[in-house]
Amino acid sequence: MAAAKDGRKAPARKSAAEEQLPGIEDARAAFGPALSGALERPRAMLRALRVRPPQLLHLEGGEAADRVALALWWAALLNCEDPEGMEPKAMAMGPCLSCSSCLRLGVNMHPDLILLDGREGSIKIDEVRGLRPILGEKPHFARWRVIIAAEAQSLGIEAANSLLKVLEDPCPDTCFVFTAPQRERLLPTLVSRGWMVTLPWPEAGRPLPEELRPWEQALGRFVAEGRGWLDMTSERNGMDAAKAQHIVLIGQKALADCIAGREGGMLSAVFRRLPEAALMQADEIFVEAQDQLQAQVSPLLVLDAMAARLHVLARRR
Ligand SMILES: [Zn+2]
Repeated sequence: MAAAKDGRKAPARKSAAEEQLPGIEDARAAFGPALSGALERPRAMLRALRVRPPQLLHLEGGEAADRVALALWWAALLNCEDPEGMEPKAMAMGPCLSCSSCLRLGVNMHPDLILLDGREGSIKIDEVRGLRPILGEKPHFARWRVIIAAEAQSLGIEAANSLLKVLEDPCPDTCFVFTAPQRERLLPTLVSRGWMVTLPWPEAGRPLPEELRPWEQALGRFVAEGRGWLDMTSERNGMDAAKAQHIVLIGQKALADCIAGREGGMLSAVFRRLPEAALMQADEIFVEAQDQLQAQVSPLLVLDAMAARLHVLARRR
């Protein structure tokens, strides 16, 4: 193995011959969190991306376990060997999760899967350097080699820059997946190179990430009082569809907090004063905003229209 020649340890990589085929139960457990109903939208997005996989995919939002499981599911989707799994109709469902490729990917025993694991400690620069010789080769068995940087916010600055350089070189038949709680935790240059898929917020009523609180407050204040929304000038510059999706998710989270009777932020306090019918309308407004963003309507236009409709709704109470 080329990576061993210079004495560096290659990232978690095992030869297929060393291992028995893993049990279906172990693989199912690994994929489990990726199969929840709440992740149907991100899964649909990945199924659509499978036709021409992006070199770098980002998975943000949700919980760490969801993100990492979905990264493995993506690897399985790209490499499922089930002949029926290749049918366009069956592909609408996702990978079979029981062929030898899916099983090995699920438990990280596939020679063409490399997992840089930042879940317990930082991802070291040597692990990233170890990728270089591997990436020059074609995948051993898989159609697509998949390199997962799990919880890529644990990349040190040197390791992150080294990964950027790796991404600049041609990496034939290789897909990278980075998982992180929010894109703001990664180098902007890494974020801008990749395709962003945002998972729904966890339902546990946890506090919002720091950098999204101003949006929650601005939206809450605007919906209640009809002002303050356009003051987010610097945050509005450089708004893209993925960030706008995030802001719509803030609204959906506030609605979920309100309906579940959880203590939330300013916006959920506004929702608490509304009758149930208005809450259902608010839900529709959020879903429509999501759809418009996916249809590539201008993100600021979508957010402004969403905020205005919510304000009208709140005033009508
Ligand atoms: Zn399969």
